[in-house]
Amino acid sequence: MIQDSQVTSRFHAHAVRTRLLSTFMICAMASCGALAGCAGAQHAGGSRSVRSAPLADAWRQLADGGIASARELFAAYNTPQQPHLIRGEALFGLGKCELAATEPAGDAARAIALLKEASPLLAGSGATGAVETALAEAYLRQRFYELAREHMERGYHFLDGTERVRAAALVAILYEHEGFDALAANWRERAGPFADGAEFTEMRAAILPPAPPRPAVAELPAAPPAGKSAPQQSALVASKPSGARIVMRKEWGAGPPRRKQLEPMGPIKLITIHHTADEQPLVAHSLRDVYDYLRRLQSFHQNGNHWADIGYHYLIDAQGRIFEGRPLAYQGAHAGSGDLNEGNIGVALIGDFDRTRPTAQQLASMKKLVDQLLKSHRLPHGKVTAHSALREKAGLGHTDCPGRYMMPHFRRMFAP
Ligand SMILES: [Zn+2]
Repeated sequence: MIQDSQVTSRFHAHAVRTRLLSTFMICAMASCGALAGCAGAQHAGGSRSVRSAPLADAWRQLADGGIASARELFAAYNTPQQPHLIRGEALFGLGKCELAATEPAGDAARAIALLKEASPLLAGSGATGAVETALAEAYLRQRFYELAREHMERGYHFLDGTERVRAAALVAILYEHEGFDALAANWRERAGPFADGAEFTEMRAAILPPAPPRPAVAELPAAPPAGKSAPQQSALVASKPSGARIVMRKEWGAGPPRRKQLEPMGPIKLITIHHTADEQPLVAHSLRDVYDYLRRLQSFHQNGNHWADIGYHYLIDAQGRIFEGRPLAYQGAHAGSGDLNEGNIGVALIGDFDRTRPTAQQLASMKKLVDQLLKSHRLPHGKVTAHSALREKAGLGHTDCPGRYMMPHFRRMFAP
């Protein structure tokens, strides 16, 4: 009984917050009341403003809160006779009207349908960032957090400046909500100083339910002699899925990537496991040694192989520590060809597993990271491959990677 009423009241509080958030997001996140504001001009290649002249009036009405007249003006251009871009813009405008309407409130499901119809018509117009942001906003209203996060994650790559930072912040918050702490930290990093500011806290409070009423003592690393209440506390702590911590690029002192050479990652399809098979094995295991090693590896990949950046997205050392390699936003250089690298996350375990065995900590971290990545990108269990199998399937030359001592573990953990 008590539990039920708690659930109900929390649900209500959450609904209120979600409404608040919508207003907040329209003002703050999708501040481009019209397309021209953010993604438009910069990404249209200068050739054409996305906000077209025929619809300028409609956008103005929307910005001034004249939803009904904006709707009418947009609707007039939502006809098959219109060129794709105009019709796409009209549909996008109609979707934005649904999101902006308050009395009566707009229909999020209808907004999603309109925006999804607009999206392909506007492909390449420079509006992708704004459309994805609006889709994220609509899904957020429906409390489809995963879908909201996916659209915001995609939109991020098409946004600039403040919009990009806000998008990263939202993705971080949604990952946190899903319990993917390491990925949340990754995206918080991308949000930069914004993630330490008041606006981020406000945004977070608007999206996430209040922190569970956790007794303060549960936060302490070593509670004084475990009394009767100890099991209850640890259950509380354990109920939160703890993501593996990832040591960020900044921490190990990565150099900048060669931006012009970077390719966007595209939708994630696969995870590939490697070993680094270094000629000179990494024998020392202090964190400083590993940092040095990673910087050498990055330098070798950039200056020896002429790649844009370190090849792998994640690296795991013998202690089981996970390091961020190339940011996940960009295709790696690990699979063997450009095509194979598309949408393919490269995870490398540091070592040569043709000669030595991976450590238990290394294997445990690999499993944890891979499971987290599969879940957050909604990939089925079987979407993990060993480098050797991937190359073989693609008809490329043989590789022993990730090594004969790794393969039994790989099969045990990831066999479909
Ligand atoms: Zn490999």
